[in-house]
Amino acid sequence: MTLDHITVEGKRVDIRWKKWLGKLHEGYAKGGEYIAPTVGRPRISIMTSQPLRAQRATMVHELLHHCVELSGLKVPKKDEEAFCDAVDSWLTLILRENPKLVEFLTEVP
Ligand SMILES: [Zn+2]
Repeated sequence: MTLDHITVEGKRVDIRWKKWLGKLHEGYAKGGEYIAPTVGRPRISIMTSQPLRAQRATMVHELLHHCVELSGLKVPKKDEEAFCDAVDSWLTLILRENPKLVEFLTEVP
């Protein structure tokens, strides 16, 4: 994958693509990982051995964590996780199903 970073307001967030990211506490494979700027150099890692559809939803999931972080919203970690879990697949689906929406959002006037 050639996407090695994104920027948010010009600030870089590194993107790492890894075959394996370890397991979650529940024993499931960890699909993604987010390192917040308050912890270190901002970074999103995506596990490439999961299906592409899951990689895409994971990317959106980790980006949502970044949005929560940047917003300064203080919510319990479990609530933030529930929010990101609830929204990631739907937002990915909406963006994929509506290329004109993506064009509207990204078009430079
Ligand atoms: Zn998460």
